[in-house]
Amino acid sequence: MATPMISAQNVHKSFGQLEVLKGINLEVQAGEVACLLGPSGSGKSTFLRCVNHLDKATAGRLYVDGELIGYREKNGTLYEISEKEAAEQRSDIGMVFQSFNLFPHRTVIENIIEAPVQVKKIPEETARARAMELLEDVGLASKANNYPVQLSGGQQQRVAIVRALLARPEVVFADEPTGNLDSNSGTEVLKLLRDAATEQKQTILMVTHDAHAASYADRVVFLKDGMIAGEMLNPTHDAVLQAMGQLEGK
Ligand code: ADP
Ligand code: MG
Repeated sequence: MATPMISAQNVHKSFGQLEVLKGINLEVQAGEVACLLGPSGSGKSTFLRCVNHLDKATAGRLYVDGELIGYREKNGTLYEISEKEAAEQRSDIGMVFQSFNLFPHRTVIENIIEAPVQVKKIPEETARARAMELLEDVGLASKANNYPVQLSGGQQQRVAIVRALLARPEVVFADEPTGNLDSNSGTEVLKLLRDAATEQKQTILMVTHDAHAASYADRVVFLKDGMIAGEMLNPTHDAVLQAMGQLEGK
């Protein structure tokens, strides 16, 4: 079997006395859309932050594209890398942690192409053309020259997803991608993420409490009390709801 794109090995995370993650083992294959599903407060965001080394796991190891995240190993000992090196590592691997904060003083299109043009050195014309295609896909082409404040929360969220996808990162981590969205806009965002995996072979790991969002994944992994409580392939909305009900009843 090929090296998984994401591999979490016995990941623990505590905040003081509170143990949030109690030994997470999870593998996501390249090109897969995986979803970690769990109730609010179950540690989903914490896990995603640990994978990105924005939070430090208390124990265990995380690999993305075969690379140990956040540490360098020397003679069996782990040394934490600096924040700058961690950012370089994310950039080298091509991993994007999608966040919803747009720059208020830049237009939609400027927000989207800024990083690819400045950091990735993608020619501006190429970046613009691709941005317009993606905006078209989510029904926001007409908003390209508007400022974030002129958009609804849901529209801003879709712009943020377009921004995350523009540079075609290898891996996209999405935290509650449908969080502020009505069901139509939510569905558009989920389709965008699915297409990224199907057409661009990008790997998507989303975390959510939303069974509808989960039904867009190839595989749903259930998180309960800081541990993986099961998984489901090719989930349907109903099957996910039923499994969630059973888990709550346990
Ligand atoms: P989810 O994303 O599943 O809703 P989180 O990962 O945000 O859950 O939070 C899991 C638990 O960890 C919660 O009880 C939360 O209060 C706690 N927590 C998260 N971040 C911190 C932090 N920086 N300091 C202390 N506790 C935290
Ligand atoms: Mg969260």
